[in-house]
Amino acid sequence: MVTATVLPDQTVVVEGNRIAAIGPTSQTEIPPNSTVVNCQHAYLMPGLADMHMHLRYNWLSDTWPVSPLKLYLANGVTTIRCFGPRGKTGRYGLTWRKEIESGRLDGPSILTCGPQLRGHFKENPEQIVIRQKYQHFDFIKIYAFVDRQEYHTIMSTAKKLNFYTAGHIPFQVGLDGILAEGMNEIAHIEELIWEVSELDRHRYFNNEGEWMSYAIQTTFSRFAPLLELNPREQERKIETMVVALANKLKDKPVPVCTTLVIDDLIVRKLFDPDDFLERPENRYLPLSYLERFRKGLGKHQLQFKGGEVFAPFKYMLDKKLLVALKAKNIPLLLSTDAGTGIMGAVPGFSLHDELSILVENGFTPYEALAAGTVVASKIVQRMNGLDEFGSIVPGKRADLLLLAKNPLDDVAHARSILGVMAAGRWYDQESISAMLDR
Ligand SMILES: [Zn+2]
Repeated sequence: MVTATVLPDQTVVVEGNRIAAIGPTSQTEIPPNSTVVNCQHAYLMPGLADMHMHLRYNWLSDTWPVSPLKLYLANGVTTIRCFGPRGKTGRYGLTWRKEIESGRLDGPSILTCGPQLRGHFKENPEQIVIRQKYQHFDFIKIYAFVDRQEYHTIMSTAKKLNFYTAGHIPFQVGLDGILAEGMNEIAHIEELIWEVSELDRHRYFNNEGEWMSYAIQTTFSRFAPLLELNPREQERKIETMVVALANKLKDKPVPVCTTLVIDDLIVRKLFDPDDFLERPENRYLPLSYLERFRKGLGKHQLQFKGGEVFAPFKYMLDKKLLVALKAKNIPLLLSTDAGTGIMGAVPGFSLHDELSILVENGFTPYEALAAGTVVASKIVQRMNGLDEFGSIVPGKRADLLLLAKNPLDDVAHARSILGVMAAGRWYDQESISAMLDR
Protein backbone atom coordinates (compact mmCIF):
# COMPACT_ATOMS: atom_id res chain seq x y z
CA MET A 1 0.00 0.00 0.00
CA VAL A 2 2.93 2.38 -0.53
CA THR A 3 2.33 2.40 -4.29
CA ALA A 4 -0.48 1.00 -6.40
CA THR A 5 1.54 -1.98 -7.56
CA VAL A 6 1.65 -5.67 -6.75
CA LEU A 7 5.04 -7.11 -5.73
CA PRO A 8 5.16 -10.73 -6.89
CA ASP A 9 6.94 -13.62 -5.14
CA GLN A 10 7.40 -12.06 -1.72
CA THR A 11 7.91 -13.60 1.70
CA VAL A 12 6.80 -11.80 4.84
CA VAL A 13 8.31 -12.79 8.18
CA VAL A 14 6.39 -12.05 11.36
CA GLU A 15 7.82 -12.27 14.86
CA GLY A 16 5.49 -11.75 17.80
CA ASN A 17 3.09 -8.99 16.87
CA ARG A 18 5.45 -7.27 14.41
CA ILE A 19 6.52 -7.59 10.80
CA ALA A 20 10.19 -8.63 10.92
CA ALA A 21 11.02 -8.73 7.22
CA ILE A 22 9.58 -8.57 3.71
CA GLY A 23 11.51 -9.41 0.58
CA PRO A 24 11.76 -11.60 -2.53
CA THR A 25 11.10 -15.22 -1.57
CA SER A 26 14.45 -16.36 -3.04
CA GLN A 27 16.35 -13.97 -0.73
CA THR A 28 14.27 -13.96 2.45
CA GLU A 29 15.23 -16.40 5.11
CA ILE A 30 12.48 -18.08 7.09
CA PRO A 31 13.62 -18.49 10.70
CA PRO A 32 13.70 -22.12 11.94
CA ASN A 33 10.58 -23.42 13.68
CA SER A 34 8.36 -20.85 11.97
CA THR A 35 4.76 -21.58 11.13
CA VAL A 36 4.57 -21.20 7.37
CA VAL A 37 1.42 -20.05 5.59
CA ASN A 38 1.53 -20.79 1.90
CA CYS A 39 0.17 -17.72 0.12
CA GLN A 40 0.79 -18.81 -3.44
CA HIS A 41 -1.71 -17.37 -5.95
CA ALA A 42 -3.05 -15.06 -3.25
CA TYR A 43 -2.67 -11.37 -2.48
CA LEU A 44 -1.40 -10.00 0.80
CA MET A 45 -2.36 -6.47 1.89
CA PRO A 46 -2.32 -4.59 5.19
CA GLY A 47 -5.36 -5.07 7.43
CA LEU A 48 -8.03 -2.39 7.16
CA ALA A 49 -9.01 0.27 9.67
CA ASP A 50 -12.51 1.53 10.46
CA MET A 51 -11.55 5.04 11.48
CA HIS A 52 -14.93 6.10 12.91
CA MET A 53 -17.06 3.57 14.71
CA HIS A 54 -18.56 3.19 18.19
CA LEU A 55 -17.77 0.67 20.85
CA ARG A 56 -20.68 -0.33 23.05
CA TYR A 57 -20.50 -1.95 26.45
CA ASN A 58 -22.84 -4.80 25.44
CA TRP A 59 -20.62 -6.15 22.66
CA LEU A 60 -19.55 -9.19 24.64
CA SER A 61 -23.07 -9.96 25.85
CA ASP A 62 -25.66 -11.94 23.91
CA THR A 63 -27.33 -8.75 22.62
CA TRP A 64 -25.15 -9.22 19.56
CA PRO A 65 -25.39 -12.70 17.96
CA VAL A 66 -21.60 -12.48 17.39
CA SER A 67 -19.34 -9.98 19.12
CA PRO A 68 -18.59 -7.08 16.76
CA LEU A 69 -14.91 -7.54 17.70
CA LYS A 70 -15.07 -10.83 15.81
CA LEU A 71 -17.16 -9.37 12.97
CA TYR A 72 -14.39 -6.85 12.39
CA LEU A 73 -11.64 -9.49 12.34
CA ALA A 74 -13.62 -11.76 10.04
CA ASN A 75 -13.89 -8.86 7.59
CA GLY A 76 -10.18 -8.09 7.60
CA VAL A 77 -10.52 -5.03 9.84
CA THR A 78 -7.55 -5.08 12.19
CA THR A 79 -7.78 -1.53 13.60
CA ILE A 80 -10.87 0.22 14.91
CA ARG A 81 -11.07 3.76 16.18
CA CYS A 82 -13.98 4.53 18.46
CA PHE A 83 -15.59 7.97 18.22
CA GLY A 84 -17.41 7.76 21.52
CA PRO A 85 -17.88 4.59 23.54
CA ARG A 86 -21.59 4.25 24.28
CA GLY A 87 -22.69 3.41 27.79
CA LYS A 88 -20.88 3.29 31.16
CA THR A 89 -17.67 5.29 31.57
CA GLY A 90 -16.21 4.22 28.27
CA ARG A 91 -13.25 2.60 29.98
CA TYR A 92 -14.29 -0.87 28.85
CA GLY A 93 -12.70 0.01 25.49
CA LEU A 94 -9.35 0.46 27.22
CA THR A 95 -9.83 -2.85 29.06
CA TRP A 96 -10.66 -4.70 25.83
CA ARG A 97 -7.62 -3.12 24.16
CA LYS A 98 -5.36 -4.62 26.85
CA GLU A 99 -7.10 -7.99 26.73
CA ILE A 100 -6.71 -8.12 22.95
CA GLU A 101 -3.06 -7.08 23.18
CA SER A 102 -2.35 -9.82 25.68
CA GLY A 103 -4.19 -12.45 23.63
CA ARG A 104 -7.01 -13.11 26.10
CA LEU A 105 -9.60 -11.72 23.69
CA ASP A 106 -9.91 -11.92 19.89
CA GLY A 107 -10.31 -8.56 18.20
CA PRO A 108 -8.74 -5.74 16.24
CA SER A 109 -6.38 -3.16 17.78
CA ILE A 110 -8.50 -0.52 19.49
CA LEU A 111 -8.04 3.24 19.48
CA THR A 112 -10.62 5.17 21.43
CA CYS A 113 -11.69 8.55 22.71
CA GLY A 114 -13.40 8.87 26.06
CA PRO A 115 -17.13 9.49 26.47
CA GLN A 116 -18.19 12.23 24.03
CA LEU A 117 -18.14 15.82 25.20
CA ARG A 118 -21.76 16.58 24.45
CA GLY A 119 -22.25 19.99 26.07
CA HIS A 120 -24.63 20.97 28.91
CA PHE A 121 -21.77 20.09 31.26
CA LYS A 122 -22.27 19.54 34.98
CA GLU A 123 -18.59 20.30 35.67
CA ASN A 124 -15.97 22.51 34.06
CA PRO A 125 -15.13 20.83 30.74
CA GLU A 126 -11.47 21.52 31.48
CA GLN A 127 -11.68 18.84 34.19
CA ILE A 128 -13.20 16.35 31.76
CA VAL A 129 -10.45 16.88 29.19
CA ILE A 130 -7.72 16.49 31.83
CA ARG A 131 -9.37 13.37 33.23
CA GLN A 132 -9.73 11.71 29.82
CA LYS A 133 -6.10 12.49 29.00
CA TYR A 134 -4.81 10.79 32.14
CA GLN A 135 -7.20 7.87 31.75
CA HIS A 136 -5.18 7.17 28.56
CA PHE A 137 -7.88 7.76 25.99
CA ASP A 138 -6.35 8.52 22.59
CA PHE A 139 -8.32 11.66 21.77
CA ILE A 140 -11.39 13.64 22.68
CA LYS A 141 -14.60 13.73 20.72
CA ILE A 142 -16.59 16.93 20.69
CA TYR A 143 -20.29 16.85 19.94
CA ALA A 144 -22.69 19.21 18.22
CA PHE A 145 -24.14 21.12 21.21
CA VAL A 146 -20.96 22.29 22.91
CA ASP A 147 -21.31 26.09 23.14
CA ARG A 148 -18.69 28.64 22.08
CA GLN A 149 -17.21 29.21 25.52
CA GLU A 150 -17.14 25.50 26.36
CA TYR A 151 -15.56 24.76 23.01
CA HIS A 152 -12.81 27.27 23.59
CA THR A 153 -12.11 25.83 27.05
CA ILE A 154 -11.97 22.29 25.67
CA MET A 155 -9.70 23.23 22.78
CA SER A 156 -7.24 25.27 24.81
CA THR A 157 -7.03 22.60 27.53
CA ALA A 158 -6.48 19.89 24.92
CA LYS A 159 -3.76 21.93 23.22
CA LYS A 160 -1.89 22.39 26.51
CA LEU A 161 -2.03 18.63 27.06
CA ASN A 162 -1.10 17.82 23.46
CA PHE A 163 -4.38 15.90 23.24
CA TYR A 164 -5.87 15.20 19.78
CA THR A 165 -9.31 16.70 19.15
CA ALA A 166 -11.94 15.40 16.76
CA GLY A 167 -15.64 15.77 16.42
CA HIS A 168 -18.69 17.33 14.96
CA ILE A 169 -18.71 20.99 14.06
CA PRO A 170 -20.55 22.44 17.08
CA PHE A 171 -23.39 24.43 15.55
CA GLN A 172 -22.65 27.52 17.68
CA VAL A 173 -19.00 27.46 16.60
CA GLY A 174 -19.23 26.68 12.89
CA LEU A 175 -16.54 25.64 10.43
CA ASP A 176 -14.61 28.93 10.61
CA GLY A 177 -14.63 28.64 14.40
CA ILE A 178 -13.23 25.11 14.52
CA LEU A 179 -10.56 25.98 11.97
CA ALA A 180 -9.54 29.01 14.02
CA GLU A 181 -9.34 26.89 17.18
CA GLY A 182 -7.39 24.21 15.32
CA MET A 183 -9.59 21.13 15.83
CA ASN A 184 -7.57 18.20 14.48
CA GLU A 185 -10.28 16.24 12.68
CA ILE A 186 -13.90 16.34 11.49
CA ALA A 187 -16.07 13.34 12.36
CA HIS A 188 -18.25 13.12 9.22
CA ILE A 189 -18.44 14.63 5.75
CA GLU A 190 -22.06 15.51 6.54
CA GLU A 191 -20.88 18.01 9.17
CA LEU A 192 -19.98 20.32 6.29
CA ILE A 193 -23.48 20.29 4.84
CA TRP A 194 -24.95 22.01 7.86
CA GLU A 195 -22.51 24.83 7.13
CA VAL A 196 -24.50 25.99 4.12
CA SER A 197 -27.80 25.79 5.99
CA GLU A 198 -27.80 29.24 7.61
CA LEU A 199 -28.43 27.73 11.01
CA ASP A 200 -29.49 29.98 13.87
CA ARG A 201 -26.32 29.58 15.89
CA HIS A 202 -27.87 30.84 19.11
CA ARG A 203 -30.44 28.12 19.53
CA TYR A 204 -30.46 25.66 22.39
CA PHE A 205 -31.03 21.93 22.01
CA ASN A 206 -31.70 19.38 24.72
CA ASN A 207 -30.72 16.32 22.78
CA GLU A 208 -29.55 14.85 19.51
CA GLY A 209 -33.09 14.26 18.23
CA GLU A 210 -34.00 17.96 18.55
CA TRP A 211 -30.75 19.06 16.95
CA MET A 212 -30.97 16.58 14.10
CA SER A 213 -34.54 17.47 13.15
CA TYR A 214 -33.65 21.17 13.29
CA ALA A 215 -30.55 20.65 11.13
CA ILE A 216 -32.43 18.50 8.63
CA GLN A 217 -35.42 20.86 8.39
CA THR A 218 -33.33 24.01 8.05
CA THR A 219 -31.06 22.45 5.49
CA PHE A 220 -33.98 21.10 3.54
CA SER A 221 -35.74 24.47 3.39
CA ARG A 222 -32.46 26.08 2.38
CA PHE A 223 -32.12 23.66 -0.51
CA ALA A 224 -35.80 23.38 -1.46
CA PRO A 225 -35.58 26.19 -4.07
CA LEU A 226 -32.74 24.28 -5.73
CA LEU A 227 -34.99 21.33 -6.33
CA GLU A 228 -37.13 23.57 -8.56
CA LEU A 229 -34.21 24.30 -10.90
CA ASN A 230 -33.35 22.22 -13.92
CA PRO A 231 -30.80 19.52 -13.14
CA ARG A 232 -27.90 21.26 -14.85
CA GLU A 233 -28.48 24.57 -13.05
CA GLN A 234 -28.97 22.70 -9.79
CA GLU A 235 -25.71 20.84 -10.28
CA ARG A 236 -23.82 24.06 -11.02
CA LYS A 237 -25.08 25.76 -7.84
CA ILE A 238 -24.23 22.77 -5.66
CA GLU A 239 -20.83 22.47 -7.27
CA THR A 240 -20.02 26.08 -6.36
CA MET A 241 -21.18 25.52 -2.80
CA VAL A 242 -19.18 22.37 -2.11
CA VAL A 243 -16.03 23.69 -3.76
CA ALA A 244 -16.19 26.80 -1.54
CA LEU A 245 -16.44 24.55 1.53
CA ALA A 246 -13.57 22.30 0.43
CA ASN A 247 -11.46 25.41 -0.21
CA LYS A 248 -11.86 26.46 3.41
CA LEU A 249 -10.18 23.23 4.49
CA LYS A 250 -7.34 23.18 2.03
CA ASP A 251 -4.86 25.53 3.73
CA LYS A 252 -4.56 23.49 6.90
CA PRO A 253 -5.94 20.18 5.61
CA VAL A 254 -8.15 18.83 8.38
CA PRO A 255 -8.84 15.12 7.90
CA VAL A 256 -12.48 14.13 7.49
CA CYS A 257 -14.10 10.73 8.15
CA THR A 258 -16.21 9.58 5.20
CA THR A 259 -19.06 7.56 6.90
CA LEU A 260 -21.12 7.62 3.66
CA VAL A 261 -22.45 4.10 4.17
CA ILE A 262 -24.88 5.60 6.68
CA ASP A 263 -26.37 7.85 3.98
CA ASP A 264 -26.65 4.85 1.73
CA LEU A 265 -28.38 2.88 4.47
CA ILE A 266 -30.78 5.71 5.29
CA VAL A 267 -31.96 5.87 1.68
CA ARG A 268 -32.34 2.09 1.51
CA LYS A 269 -34.19 1.91 4.82
CA LEU A 270 -36.62 4.69 3.86
CA PHE A 271 -37.28 3.76 0.24
CA ASP A 272 -36.51 0.07 -0.06
CA PRO A 273 -36.95 -1.47 3.40
CA ASP A 274 -37.45 -4.98 2.01
CA ASP A 275 -34.12 -4.78 0.24
CA PHE A 276 -32.53 -3.60 3.48
CA LEU A 277 -34.13 -6.45 5.44
CA GLU A 278 -32.84 -9.01 2.98
CA ARG A 279 -29.16 -8.27 3.57
CA PRO A 280 -27.51 -11.51 4.69
CA GLU A 281 -25.36 -9.65 7.25
CA ASN A 282 -28.48 -8.56 9.16
CA ARG A 283 -28.21 -11.87 10.98
CA TYR A 284 -25.41 -10.26 13.00
CA LEU A 285 -27.44 -7.24 14.14
CA PRO A 286 -29.13 -7.15 17.56
CA LEU A 287 -32.61 -8.65 17.16
CA SER A 288 -34.13 -5.72 19.05
CA TYR A 289 -32.94 -3.36 16.32
CA LEU A 290 -34.59 -5.38 13.54
CA GLU A 291 -37.82 -5.57 15.52
CA ARG A 292 -37.88 -1.78 15.96
CA PHE A 293 -37.14 -1.33 12.28
CA ARG A 294 -40.01 -3.62 11.23
CA LYS A 295 -42.34 -1.52 13.37
CA GLY A 296 -41.13 1.67 11.66
CA LEU A 297 -39.45 2.87 14.85
CA GLY A 298 -35.81 2.83 13.70
CA LYS A 299 -33.73 5.94 14.47
CA HIS A 300 -33.69 7.21 10.88
CA GLN A 301 -37.29 6.22 10.19
CA LEU A 302 -38.29 8.60 12.98
CA GLN A 303 -35.72 11.30 12.15
CA PHE A 304 -36.75 11.60 8.51
CA LYS A 305 -40.49 11.15 9.05
CA GLY A 306 -42.30 13.53 6.68
CA GLY A 307 -38.99 14.65 5.14
CA GLU A 308 -37.98 11.36 3.53
CA VAL A 309 -37.24 13.03 0.21
CA PHE A 310 -34.40 14.93 1.87
CA ALA A 311 -32.43 11.71 2.48
CA PRO A 312 -31.37 11.02 -1.13
CA PHE A 313 -30.73 14.74 -1.62
CA LYS A 314 -28.45 14.86 1.43
CA TYR A 315 -26.64 11.74 0.21
CA MET A 316 -26.05 13.44 -3.13
CA LEU A 317 -24.62 16.50 -1.33
CA ASP A 318 -22.33 14.33 0.80
CA LYS A 319 -21.05 12.55 -2.31
CA LYS A 320 -20.37 15.89 -4.04
CA LEU A 321 -18.48 16.99 -0.93
CA LEU A 322 -16.45 13.80 -1.01
CA VAL A 323 -15.38 14.52 -4.57
CA ALA A 324 -14.58 18.18 -3.80
CA LEU A 325 -12.56 17.32 -0.69
CA LYS A 326 -10.60 14.69 -2.57
CA ALA A 327 -9.82 17.18 -5.34
CA LYS A 328 -8.28 19.51 -2.70
CA ASN A 329 -6.19 16.66 -1.25
CA ILE A 330 -7.97 16.72 2.11
CA PRO A 331 -7.13 13.43 3.92
CA LEU A 332 -10.27 11.27 3.83
CA LEU A 333 -10.55 8.41 6.30
CA LEU A 334 -12.37 5.16 5.60
CA SER A 335 -15.10 4.86 8.23
CA THR A 336 -18.65 3.70 8.85
CA ASP A 337 -20.09 4.96 12.16
CA ALA A 338 -21.05 1.31 12.84
CA GLY A 339 -21.17 -0.36 16.21
CA THR A 340 -24.04 1.07 18.20
CA GLY A 341 -26.50 -1.28 16.57
CA ILE A 342 -29.14 1.42 16.14
CA MET A 343 -28.46 2.45 12.55
CA GLY A 344 -28.24 -0.88 10.77
CA ALA A 345 -24.56 -0.68 9.79
CA VAL A 346 -23.03 -4.07 10.56
CA PRO A 347 -19.50 -3.80 11.99
CA GLY A 348 -16.87 -5.00 9.51
CA PHE A 349 -19.24 -5.75 6.64
CA SER A 350 -20.14 -2.07 6.33
CA LEU A 351 -16.48 -1.10 5.81
CA HIS A 352 -16.50 -3.02 2.53
CA ASP A 353 -19.66 -1.16 1.50
CA GLU A 354 -17.87 2.10 2.28
CA LEU A 355 -14.94 1.04 0.05
CA SER A 356 -17.37 0.41 -2.82
CA ILE A 357 -19.05 3.79 -2.30
CA LEU A 358 -15.68 5.56 -2.48
CA VAL A 359 -14.86 3.78 -5.74
CA GLU A 360 -18.30 4.58 -7.19
CA ASN A 361 -17.47 8.22 -6.51
CA GLY A 362 -14.15 8.58 -8.26
CA PHE A 363 -11.62 6.86 -6.01
CA THR A 364 -9.37 4.27 -7.60
CA PRO A 365 -9.39 0.98 -5.65
CA TYR A 366 -5.90 1.91 -4.40
CA GLU A 367 -7.08 5.30 -3.13
CA ALA A 368 -10.07 3.75 -1.37
CA LEU A 369 -7.91 1.10 0.30
CA ALA A 370 -5.33 3.75 1.24
CA ALA A 371 -8.05 5.68 3.12
CA GLY A 372 -8.27 2.68 5.45
CA THR A 373 -4.56 1.76 5.54
CA VAL A 374 -1.56 4.07 4.84
CA VAL A 375 -3.49 7.34 5.03
CA ALA A 376 -5.29 6.22 8.19
CA SER A 377 -2.05 5.25 9.93
CA LYS A 378 -0.45 8.62 9.13
CA ILE A 379 -3.39 10.40 10.76
CA VAL A 380 -3.20 8.12 13.81
CA GLN A 381 0.45 9.13 14.07
CA ARG A 382 -0.67 12.74 14.55
CA MET A 383 -2.83 11.44 17.39
CA ASN A 384 -0.53 9.11 19.32
CA GLY A 385 2.84 9.43 17.61
CA LEU A 386 2.72 5.91 16.16
CA ASP A 387 2.57 5.11 12.44
CA GLU A 388 2.35 1.37 12.98
CA PHE A 389 -0.19 -0.12 10.59
CA GLY A 390 -1.40 0.34 7.01
CA SER A 391 1.64 -0.92 5.11
CA ILE A 392 3.74 -4.07 5.14
CA VAL A 393 7.03 -2.72 6.45
CA PRO A 394 9.43 -4.21 9.02
CA GLY A 395 8.65 -2.86 12.49
CA LYS A 396 4.98 -2.27 11.85
CA ARG A 397 2.29 -4.28 13.57
CA ALA A 398 1.62 -7.58 11.79
CA ASP A 399 -1.90 -6.69 10.59
CA LEU A 400 -2.38 -8.54 7.33
CA LEU A 401 -5.16 -9.56 5.03
CA LEU A 402 -4.79 -12.50 2.64
CA LEU A 403 -7.07 -12.34 -0.39
CA ALA A 404 -7.91 -14.72 -3.21
CA LYS A 405 -8.18 -11.90 -5.75
CA ASN A 406 -6.32 -8.65 -6.41
CA PRO A 407 -8.11 -5.75 -4.67
CA LEU A 408 -6.36 -3.21 -6.92
CA ASP A 409 -8.33 -4.64 -9.87
CA ASP A 410 -11.66 -4.40 -8.05
CA VAL A 411 -12.11 -3.15 -4.51
CA ALA A 412 -14.79 -5.81 -3.95
CA HIS A 413 -11.94 -8.34 -4.01
CA ALA A 414 -11.04 -7.11 -0.52
CA ARG A 415 -13.95 -9.35 0.50
CA SER A 416 -12.30 -12.49 -0.93
CA ILE A 417 -10.68 -13.25 2.43
CA LEU A 418 -8.51 -16.35 2.83
CA GLY A 419 -7.05 -15.35 6.16
CA VAL A 420 -6.44 -12.48 8.54
CA MET A 421 -3.50 -11.71 10.79
CA ALA A 422 -4.19 -9.28 13.63
CA ALA A 423 -1.17 -8.13 15.66
CA GLY A 424 0.66 -11.34 14.73
CA ARG A 425 -2.21 -13.73 15.40
CA TRP A 426 -3.25 -15.75 12.36
CA TYR A 427 -6.87 -16.64 11.62
CA ASP A 428 -7.33 -18.99 8.68
CA GLN A 429 -10.60 -19.50 6.81
CA GLU A 430 -11.71 -22.20 9.20
CA SER A 431 -11.23 -20.07 12.30
CA ILE A 432 -12.93 -17.14 10.56
CA SER A 433 -16.01 -19.27 9.81
CA ALA A 434 -15.98 -20.42 13.42
CA MET A 435 -15.91 -16.79 14.57
CA LEU A 436 -18.91 -15.98 12.39
CA ASP A 437 -20.90 -18.90 13.76
CA ARG A 438 -23.82 -17.58 15.76
ZN1 LIG B 1 -20.19 8.44 15.22
